[in-house]
Amino acid sequence: MADRRVCIIHTGGTLGMRQTGAGYAPAQNLGELIGQRLPELASASMPDWELVEYDELLDSANARPHDWYKLASVIHSNRDLYDAFIVIHGTDTLAYTASALSFLLGDFRKPVIVTGSQIPLCEIRNDAQSNLISAMQVIATGRLTEVCVCFGRHIFRGNRTTKVNAIELDAFASPNFLPLVEIGTNFHFSEYGSLPVRADILSNQPPPCPDCSIAVLQVFPGMSAALIDAIVETGACGIVLRCYGVGTAPTADGSFLGALKRASDAGTAIVAVSQCTEGSVALRRYSAGSALADAGVISGYDMTAEAAFTKLHALVSFGLDIPAIAQAMQQNLCGELTND
Ligand code: ASP
Repeated sequence: MADRRVCIIHTGGTLGMRQTGAGYAPAQNLGELIGQRLPELASASMPDWELVEYDELLDSANARPHDWYKLASVIHSNRDLYDAFIVIHGTDTLAYTASALSFLLGDFRKPVIVTGSQIPLCEIRNDAQSNLISAMQVIATGRLTEVCVCFGRHIFRGNRTTKVNAIELDAFASPNFLPLVEIGTNFHFSEYGSLPVRADILSNQPPPCPDCSIAVLQVFPGMSAALIDAIVETGACGIVLRCYGVGTAPTADGSFLGALKRASDAGTAIVAVSQCTEGSVALRRYSAGSALADAGVISGYDMTAEAAFTKLHALVSFGLDIPAIAQAMQQNLCGELTND
């Protein structure tokens, strides 16, 4: 499989971190560390690889939307030079980056595998070695062609992934879509059919990062209209509203409902996702949800909050107007939602 060429992009995160007086922090020279701690990557059965290391490595807690657009552009501009890409990233916002890449790379048709680890490669016992080896070996099979997350015992569709565990080595889950691959003694590939990519909506050329802010708000008992108003006053172009269950909120509070309607009428896209880990939004199931739909709230179906947030961001970057954004948010653009 040495005929495959893989670009490993080190953006930061625990995998390459070293201990400092203030705790783990990103460190340069991952290539040297891989040479010492992961000689398996030089084995003849592995694809050839090259490392691209960011000058400014991040704890992914510090990642901003700008970083997704930069990464998409680095991957896109190197598309013809490599058969696959591995992105080494911190776990805290890995699901946002994987989701964003799926929208920003459009119909890329090459594997982009986002991975990281819970324990740094420099530690004697770590999950960095197995995660990187799995990513390289699955690339060697030639069977994946989309943005994925490889972590622990699974490979998930990138835009279906969410971080669910802060300490276990299986840190991620894909609550509403089956794993693409189960990693056991062999790779077990799921029969998930072909990936629907709406190339007519998604751009194949990553656009520049737009100047827009999107808020993620969790609905809670007693949530007030003032909170919605305050977000809208900041100039936010969108709100991902993490509703209860299948999409309800305290809509008996007329001022709360009024604030949502005002926001939506003023052009703020409000997308409902569920704060439950599993299941889908169905706004018309309860009258408390119908009121949201009547106020202009858009259904995000079974998208993760990370997918809804990054999708909204990407649609703004494509220059779509509000009605087109509302329509596209409810469509399956690249496997991120199920709406039938
Ligand atoms: N704080 C780290 C990061 O997200 C956590 C990790 O990588 O696991 O960069």
